[in-house]
Order: sequence, then structure tokens, then C-alpha cells
Amino acid sequence: MIPTGFDYEAPSSLEEAVRMLHENGEDAKALAGGHSLLPLMKLRLAVPTLLVDLRRIPGLHGIQRENGGWRIGAMTRHADLQDAPELGVASRAASLIADQQVRNRGTIGGSLAHGDPASDLPAVLLALDGEVRAQGPGGERSIAAADLFEDYLTTSLAHDELISEVRLPALDDWGFGYQKFTRRAEDWAMVGVCALVRKAADGSCEDVRIGLTHMGSTPLRASAAEAALRGQGLDSTGIARAAEQAAEGTEPPADLNATADYKRHLARVLTRRALEEAAGL
Ligand SMILES: Cc1cc2nc3c(=O)[nH]c(=O)nc-3n(C[C@H](O)[C@H](O)[C@H](O)COP(=O)(O)OP(=O)(O)OC[C@H]3O[C@@H](n4cnc5c(N)ncnc54)[C@H](O)[C@@H]3O)c2cc1C
Repeated sequence: MIPTGFDYEAPSSLEEAVRMLHENGEDAKALAGGHSLLPLMKLRLAVPTLLVDLRRIPGLHGIQRENGGWRIGAMTRHADLQDAPELGVASRAASLIADQQVRNRGTIGGSLAHGDPASDLPAVLLALDGEVRAQGPGGERSIAAADLFEDYLTTSLAHDELISEVRLPALDDWGFGYQKFTRRAEDWAMVGVCALVRKAADGSCEDVRIGLTHMGSTPLRASAAEAALRGQGLDSTGIARAAEQAAEGTEPPADLNATADYKRHLARVLTRRALEEAAGL
């Protein structure tokens, strides 16, 4: 199907883009890489009357190191993250998104604003305790990852607010692992797990963070598994014991690929593998 008719604008500043979204209400949509929005429009599940293309707005692209963290422009593509291994787990996760064509178009801002719990980067933002900067008609604000994702395809961004940049802590001395299970290569994750581990001097687990993809209506933290591993030995027995709790409190959606129980099983297995990877086992 082709989308219904719509108007198109390509403003040259963030303020202008926000103004267009504000003046046109819920019928106006920002357009970034278009790789989530355009498929929805073709299926007529989204019917915006105005697309506000963000591509010509300066300052929304690129990756910079700043104050012990990373500042990533909202229009930075998955392919750019993939080509920046210094970003650690964010780069690894981006390299596993779909195929190169999708990665050449899709953007980090679009992925986070879309709020799809099956997407890879939302759980990475959550595990890293990152934040987004959002520009609206009333000015700019920061939204912590824990406050961004509210429900399936629903974030705390207002319809006239735009993500301008993403902030990630560098976590240079942490190990990381990323595990994504797909039925076919380059598919969406049936389940994905992002694990970060900080080792104490004696080799035990000083701190740990685990983000889960596609285990509920939003990305989730595996808090019970984190608590079970913190302060414990980072050996295969301790990790396996903690990973057994990875699905606690989750309500994964059953779909054509898997039952909810199978997804819980996957979460436990993938958490063990991601933690082992992060711990360097
Ligand atoms: C075949 C295929 C396979 C895919 N597989 C995966 C996968 O395995 N893993 C994965 O994570 N993703 C996958 N994706 C999705 C892909 O990563 C998308 O690019 C991404 O989800 C959306 O980014 P975008 O830049 O294309 O956003 P768009 O489609 O342009 O926009 C998505 C939504 O976000 C809004 N938006 C965009 N930018 C901003 C902004 N700066 N501020 C506020 N709102 C904004 C738009 O209005 C729209 O509602 C796949 C897509 C396709 C087509």
C-alpha cells in the first residue's frame, strides 16, 4: 500500500521544527530515518498530514566525548554508532540492528522516540542509565532513560517535543556483553540482553546492570538478577545463579515466534551469556 497524501517540510533549525509540530498538533510527525514511520504509514497505521523532516537541521549529527560521557546527536545513524567501537555496548548493539541498509538510514533519536520494546537501543539506554535531551515549545529538558519509556510505542515525549541528543555515560572500566536471539539473521530480537559489569579489585562483582529487549511493553531492567550478582563472585556458577532470575517481574508478549514462557527461558539463557561476555569468561 502507499501512504495517504501528506505535506512535507524540511526546516533548517530545531526551533522551527518544534514550532511546526506545535502548530499542527497530533497530525504532524517528525521524520528522521523513516524506517519505522514510513512502514507504519504504508500500512495506514499512522496517517500524519504533515511530515517535518529533521535531516537539514544542523547540530543533530555526530558523536562527541564530553564530561566523562558521550554526546550523540539524535540524527546519528545506527551505522555511525556501529563505526564507533569506543562507544562499547551501544556500538555493538547498533551493529546488530537489521541489515546495513536499515543501519544506514535509522537514527538513534528515531529509535528511542519510537519506543518499540523490540528495538535494541532502548534497552541499551536503560542499562547505561543514559538520558535524552528534548526540545519543546517551552524550552529544553533532560529525560532519564527510566522516565522515557512508558508503554508500547509510547514515551514521555510530548507530540511537539524533539530529541536533540542522547547522553551516555562512558563506563570505560566496565565490561559489556550484548546477546540478541533471532529466528532468522538480521531479524528483530525475539529477546535481547545488554549486560554491563564492573569488577572489584578482588574480582567480585562491584556493580552490574542488565537491560532486556522485548520482555514487556517497554524495555526493562533485570533488577532481581542484578541484585543477585552484586557483591558476588563473577565466576560461571555465580553468574548462572543470578541469570536464573532474569525473567522475574517480566510480562513478555507472546507472538508468532515464541510463547511468553519460551521468551522467559531465552532471557535467562541470554543473560547468562551476556554476563559471561561482560565478565570476560
Ligand atoms: C526491515 C527493518 C528491520 C528493522 N530491524 C530492527 C532491529 O532489529 N532492531 C532495531 O532496533 N530496529 C530495527 N528497525 C527499526 C530501525 O532501527 C528504525 O530506523 C528505528 O526504529 C527508527 O529510527 P528512524 O530514524 O528510522 O525513525 P523514523 O521512522 O523516522 O521515526 C520513528 C518515530 O520517531 C519519531 N522521531 C524520529 N526522530 C525523532 C526525534 N529526534 N525526536 C522525537 N521524535 C522523533 C518519528 O516522528 C516517528 O514517530 C528495523 C527497521 C526495518 C525497516
